Amino acid sequence: MTLGDIFVFAEYTTNRWLDGSLEAIQEGARVARQTASNLVVITIGTPCADLDAVLEKQPIQSLISVEHPLLTTFSTDGYVIALSQLIEQYMPSLFIASATLTSQDFIPRLCARLKAPLVSNCVRISLGDNQRGFVFVKPTHYGQFYTTFACEQTPAFAMLLPGAIGIQPPSEYSPIQVKTFTPHISPDDIRTSMLERTKGDPRSIDIREASVIIGAGRGVAESDCWQTVESLADLLQAPIAGTRPLLDQGLVRRERVIGQTGKNVKPDVYIALGISGAYYHIQGINPASTIVAVNIDRKAPIFTHSKLGIVGDLRQILPEIIDRLQKLKRD
Ligand SMILES: Cc1cc2nc3c(=O)[nH]c(=O)nc-3n(C[C@H](O)[C@H](O)[C@H](O)COP(=O)(O)OP(=O)(O)OC[C@H]3O[C@@H](n4cnc5c(N)ncnc54)[C@H](O)[C@@H]3O)c2cc1C
Repeated sequence: MTLGDIFVFAEYTTNRWLDGSLEAIQEGARVARQTASNLVVITIGTPCADLDAVLEKQPIQSLISVEHPLLTTFSTDGYVIALSQLIEQYMPSLFIASATLTSQDFIPRLCARLKAPLVSNCVRISLGDNQRGFVFVKPTHYGQFYTTFACEQTPAFAMLLPGAIGIQPPSEYSPIQVKTFTPHISPDDIRTSMLERTKGDPRSIDIREASVIIGAGRGVAESDCWQTVESLADLLQAPIAGTRPLLDQGLVRRERVIGQTGKNVKPDVYIALGISGAYYHIQGINPASTIVAVNIDRKAPIFTHSKLGIVGDLRQILPEIIDRLQKLKRD
C-alpha cells in the first residue's frame, strides 16, 4: 500500500505558529519520516505577514496556503468547504491538527463531509501494522489508560492533545515549496457571519500564547504586593504566571506555573517579579524572550538572564512602574 502525503493543519498568530501547531508539525514530520511520505503544512485564511519567521527552522518541505476572500475570517462552512476541496484534490493519507478551538470547531464536520475517520485527543501517531493505515494512542478512562486505536481507511484525521508531545528543538530543515490553493466558495455557502470581535480576558489566555507575561515569585507573596501585580497585569493586558512556591501558596494555578515541571513559554517580554531565577524555573522560558527582572537581591541569578534588571523592593518599585506606565498611556 502506498501512503500519500501527511498533511498538517497549522495556525499562526501574527508571526509565529501556535505551540499546538508546532507540536502537530513535529509529529507530522516524525510520521512522514516513518512512512517515507511528504509532510505538507496547510494554512488557511489571510497569508501570514511574516512567513519567513514562521517557517524558520521547522522541518517543513512544502506548504499549501489556502486562500480566498471569503476565508479572511473564520467560518465553519468556509473552512469545511475549502479543506474538503483541497483534500479531495490531493488525497493525503493522514491529516493532523492540534485540538485548538478552531480545529475542534470545523474538523469533525469536515470529516463528516468526507466520510473520513477521526481520532481525537491523540498523543502519538505511527504507521500501522503491515504498513497499512495508522495507529493512534490517546488517553482514555479519565487519563488512567492510554489506548491504541488502528485505522486503515485513508485519509484518516487525527487531532492532537495540545501540550502532550512538547516542542523539540528542530534538528533539520530544508528549503520550502509554497503553493497557493484557491477553493471555489460563494457567499451563499457561508451561513454564519461575524458581527464583532471582543478581546478576551488576558488573565485567562493560555500563557504559552502570550506575548507579555508577568511572572510572580515568592518575593511577591512575601512582600504582600499581589494586588499591585494585578494592577500591572491589567495595565499591560498581560497574564500573571508564577513560580512553584506561588502554586504552593495558592496564588497561581498549576497551568500558570512556568518551568521544568510547569509550562514552557516564549513571550516577547517576561517581567520577573521577586523571582530568584532558579534553574527549574528558567528552564521554562525561551532564551529568545526578553526578561525584565525586579529583585531586592542584586546577586539574584535572575539578573544573569535579564536584559533589564532593577534592584529594589517590589513595594517601592512596582507602584513607580505603574505610575510611569499610566503616564505614558495618558500622553
Ligand atoms: C525537581 C524540581 C522541579 C521544579 N520545577 C519547578 C518549576 O517548574 N517551576 C518553578 O518555578 N520552580 C520549580 N522548582 C522549584 C525551583 O527550584 C525554585 O525553588 C523556585 O523556582 C523558586 O521560586 P521563587 O524564585 O519564587 O522563590 P525564591 O527562590 O525563594 O526567590 C524569591 C526571590 O524574591 C526576592 N524578593 C524577596 N522579597 C522581595 C521584595 N520585597 N522585592 C523584590 N524581591 C524580593 C528574593 O531576593 C528572591 O530572589 C522545582 C524544583 C525541583 C526540585
